[in-house]
Amino acid sequence: MTITESLLHWYSQNKRPLPWRETRDPYKIWLSEVILQQTRVAQGTDYYHRFLAAFPDVQSLSAADEQDVLKLWQGLGYYSRARNMHHTAKEVVENHNGIFPNSAAGLKKLKGIGDYTAAAIASICFDESTPVLDGNVARVISRLYAIDTPVDTKEGKKRINDLTNNLLDINHPGTFNQAVMELGALVCTPKSPACITCPVAFACEALKRKQVESFPVKTPKKTPAIRHLNYLVISFTEGKEEFILMRKRTGNDIWKNMYDFPCVETLNASDTSDALDQCVKSGLLGEFPFLVKHVSDEYVHQLSHRRLLAKFIRIEVKGEPIPINDITPVRRDLIAELPLPRLIDRYLAAIL
Ligand code: SF4
Repeated sequence: MTITESLLHWYSQNKRPLPWRETRDPYKIWLSEVILQQTRVAQGTDYYHRFLAAFPDVQSLSAADEQDVLKLWQGLGYYSRARNMHHTAKEVVENHNGIFPNSAAGLKKLKGIGDYTAAAIASICFDESTPVLDGNVARVISRLYAIDTPVDTKEGKKRINDLTNNLLDINHPGTFNQAVMELGALVCTPKSPACITCPVAFACEALKRKQVESFPVKTPKKTPAIRHLNYLVISFTEGKEEFILMRKRTGNDIWKNMYDFPCVETLNASDTSDALDQCVKSGLLGEFPFLVKHVSDEYVHQLSHRRLLAKFIRIEVKGEPIPINDITPVRRDLIAELPLPRLIDRYLAAIL
C-alpha cells in the first residue's frame, strides 16, 4: 500500500466518533474548526454542542447579540475567534444569501477564516483538493520526510504544504486531511509517538534515523512579554443590594467587549498604594470614604504572547462611585451573566 492508502485505511478503522464527523454542513464544520484551533477535543465537544443548541445555523448566529456569543464562548479564550465568527455569520447572511462560499479562495475572504480553516471547510464540505496545514499535519509530515526547515517559517510551511499536497487523495481530500490530523492527534503525538502502531512507519524517515523527537524543527521561542495588572474590585451597597464596578473592554486590546474590573496597569510589579493613588486621582471613588478590604496574591494568567500577573484589590466605598467611560456598577449576583475573561472568572470563583 502507498502512504496515502495506508493512512486512509488506518483512519477508517481508528477515527474517533466526533460529532462534526457526522456532517458536511459548512456552518458546523466551520464552528468545529474554529473551536478546535486552540482547544482540546474533550473540552471543545461540549462547547460545540452548546453553541449549536443556542445558534443552530448561520442565520441564528448572525441575529444574535454579541454579548450572548461571547458568554457562550467564555472559558475557551482567544475571544477574537467568537467576535470574528459573529461578524462573518452576518456577512454570510447579508452578502451571500446565507450560503457559504464553496471554495477555499472564497472562504478566505471572510473575516477570521485563514488558510487552515478555509482548506478544512473546502475539502470536507466541497471536496476541494486542497491540503490543510495545522500543528498535527506539520508534525506528521515533518517526521515522515525528516524536514529540517523550521515548520513555523514561510519556507517550512510551503515544504510541508507541497509534500501533503503530493500525498492528497484527490477523490477524498476531506477524509485524507482528517486522516493526517487524526494520526497526529492519536499516534504521531508530540512526545513518545506510538511508532510501533503507526500505519506509515514503513516510510518514516525520522524513525529510520531514530530521530523522531527531533522533529518538527521550530524556531526558538521568545520569552512572552509580562503585563502587571492591578485590578480594583470596588463595591458599594444600595439598600440590601451589593454592586461592583465592572469595566467593558472596548479598546483594541485583549478581551475586547468582555468585562473585567477597573484596572491600573504598571510596567513593573508595583505596590498596592500606587494603584490606589491612581484610582483616587481618577475621581472614580468620588469624595466618599473607602476601605481596602483585601489584596489578593498574584494570579498568573498565560496568553499566547504574554503573561499576565494580576492582583485584585477589594475596596468598599461608603457611597455610590461615579461611573467613568466604560465603567458601570453591576449587581453582584448578575456579574456571572456578563462575558468574563477566564482570569476574572477564576478570581470571582475564589472569592464567592
Ligand atoms: Fe510519526 Fe512514528 Fe509514524 Fe513516523 S513512524 S509518522 S514518527 S508515529
